Amino acid sequence: MKHTCRDETACWNAIRFCAWQHGVDAAGVIREAQRRNVPARELHERFERSARHILTTFRARVANDAFTPGIFHIEVLDQTTFWIDGLGRVWRISSPDFSTDHLINATLFLREMAPQLMEILQPLQDLTYNQAAEQMRAIPLMGALVAETWRRVDSAPDRSR
Ligand SMILES: [Zn+2]
Repeated sequence: MKHTCRDETACWNAIRFCAWQHGVDAAGVIREAQRRNVPARELHERFERSARHILTTFRARVANDAFTPGIFHIEVLDQTTFWIDGLGRVWRISSPDFSTDHLINATLFLREMAPQLMEILQPLQDLTYNQAAEQMRAIPLMGALVAETWRRVDSAPDRSR
């Protein structure tokens, strides 16, 4: 993609416009990008790529690195290989690039989201928070995140000796 923003301010403004077009909270996405040191240019390009690939499958979007920032992509729940973060970045769960902090944050995020997610996945059930959190354990992605956490804990050097 040819990036034509003349400077960083123009780029952040373009991102605000993209976020508005996608119905995404611009301030939240920009704050998250700055907190994670993701440059405006990268974020802007993510929005542009995701707009071009919006109708393709989850796998195709992974292949094109084309997830809209600021959106929770519900299809992620149905697979066990990738995590898509709040900026639309694709992470391979088993990769060392996906830090243990990030892994744990992703797991906690899903647990917190459990009632809303279960309302989408099982709209006819009326679940308490704990019931929803319990049902989350059956979600493929949740199983993969928990398994990876255990794998890392088990392979961590034993500091007790
Ligand atoms: Zn830009």
